[in-house]
Amino acid sequence: MAIQKLPNNVVKLIAAGEVIDSLTSVVRELVENSLDAKATRIFISIYPQSWSLEVADNGEGISEEDLPLTIQPNTTSKIHSRDDLINIKTLGFRGEALNSIAQLANVSICSRVKDNCGWEIVSEDFRIVKLYPKAIAIGTVISISNLFENLPLRRQVNPPFKQQLKQMQILIGEFALCHPHVTWNLFVNQRSILKISASLSTQNILPQLVKTIEYADLKSIHKKINIEQHNSICDLNLVIGLPDRLSRPRPDWVKIGINGRVVRCPALESAIYGSFHRTLSRDRFPVVILNLQISPQYIDWNRHPAKAEIYLDKIEFWQDTIKQTITEVFQLTNNNLSTSFSNKRIDQYFKVTESKSVYNIEEKIDNKSDQKVIDLISLNVLSQSRNTYIITEHSQGIWLIEQHIAHERVLYEKLQKEWEIVPLEKPIILSKLLPKQVEQLENIGLEVDSFGEDLWAVRSIPKILLFREDCLDALLELSWGGDLDAAQVSIACRTAVKNGTPLTINQMQKIVDEWKMTNNPLTCPHGRPIYLSLEESSLYRFFRRHWVLGKSHGLTESPPSNK
Ligand code: ADP
Ligand code: MG
Repeated sequence: MAIQKLPNNVVKLIAAGEVIDSLTSVVRELVENSLDAKATRIFISIYPQSWSLEVADNGEGISEEDLPLTIQPNTTSKIHSRDDLINIKTLGFRGEALNSIAQLANVSICSRVKDNCGWEIVSEDFRIVKLYPKAIAIGTVISISNLFENLPLRRQVNPPFKQQLKQMQILIGEFALCHPHVTWNLFVNQRSILKISASLSTQNILPQLVKTIEYADLKSIHKKINIEQHNSICDLNLVIGLPDRLSRPRPDWVKIGINGRVVRCPALESAIYGSFHRTLSRDRFPVVILNLQISPQYIDWNRHPAKAEIYLDKIEFWQDTIKQTITEVFQLTNNNLSTSFSNKRIDQYFKVTESKSVYNIEEKIDNKSDQKVIDLISLNVLSQSRNTYIITEHSQGIWLIEQHIAHERVLYEKLQKEWEIVPLEKPIILSKLLPKQVEQLENIGLEVDSFGEDLWAVRSIPKILLFREDCLDALLELSWGGDLDAAQVSIACRTAVKNGTPLTINQMQKIVDEWKMTNNPLTCPHGRPIYLSLEESSLYRFFRRHWVLGKSHGLTESPPSNK
């Protein structure tokens, strides 16, 4: 599409705003233009002392005729009419950025389209002073110098460059997660600061951004989702840090990308955090990168000048879909099996490195029929070790399952589904309760009466505690706080089979079968990993089964054949 000036009625509808307030905001606008031009290589060079920068891309370029238009107000090649506003497929659409930048800095734009030579325009003080041919490859190089030269106050309010650089790195990282097919290079004063290599999937990008995250600790899922009434296909890509292997001390790696840009969307973020409820320990946070490609009619980008917030239609549908997808990722299906050890420490212990992982699953779900066959892994209990570990075997290896926490996970999810309070024939008498303890027991649904001085009669209890000898202790523990959920965790922990208890094969098989059916079999409600896998492929390498027979027997030549 050629660049055109937007009609006035469209300009009025645009939630415009001065978006250029820092070097980072210039980088954001230029990078968005490069991505809209379908670039696969983007080089960003910053010269902070002179408030200058350059963004070079290998995108489609700008034609000679269009070049001078780029810096005019409200000129864009991305939308042309009012109707286009509800069908925005690009990151930019307001035709404002280059115009704003040209008012605040000296700008040079060199560009070349296919089948033509390159051209350069130079704008100073918002006047185009030069347009002449330029020898460059197909693509665009935009150089900005002396930003805010006439606005010293704006320079002053900008945070120190170190801080801005951090923001820039976050910004580029976020774009890279949404556009994994792009190679990125960031230089400051010609020193390389950040390099991200292109890849087929976001799962390969994240380890490049965070050195402590490994590819094998992540799992990707890709779904095509049909929003029925509108017959519109959306793409959902989710990269999840497996909770038994990876978590963060801060909520810094939950990112939501919608149609190519990371946005704040509290409703979807809370759906993600909710899916990790009782999966990680309390002070840890998940790693989740969600990329949604949604038909533009469901999104209103025109709400925020920097497009950092959006209005997303059918938010409840998306919340449910995301929760369901995360649960699917946790499932112990044959598809989800990893070929690598499930734990870095174990990995080091055995000194076997296995970068390969088959942790990607690609599946298509037909929402109409909702048919999905979950192919749960089949686990055979072999025996018990140290009265603590259940040794199981499956088609691709051996798992050690810790009996207490596997059972705890089963009981916790059961309690969540069926929290049943049953009346007691004979009340349990508790003494010396504080008022807040009585209140706590009542809050979780128990019937408690005063039974004389400093005595209370508990007349109903959670069904699972019925006939247990430690019922009184359990009630006291429950009275000491937490909400219903905390009560369920504490009951699950108390009633689950203890480590050190001998179990028969049948008892173990029952626990294993129930455990693998849980929604989150990877960790216990406190966030501890439940199983350790020794996959056959890793054992094969560890025992060096790939060694050539002759060599390992000390023979230099193969033995003569026995005629
Ligand atoms: P918008 O992105 O909202 O259209 P901009 O002011 O950012 O507005 O850009 C104006 C126009 O300049 C774009 O519509 C596009 O046609 C062109 N343009 C800017 N940067 C590039 C680039 N790197 N590659 C190709 N075209 C570009
Ligand atoms: Mg733009």
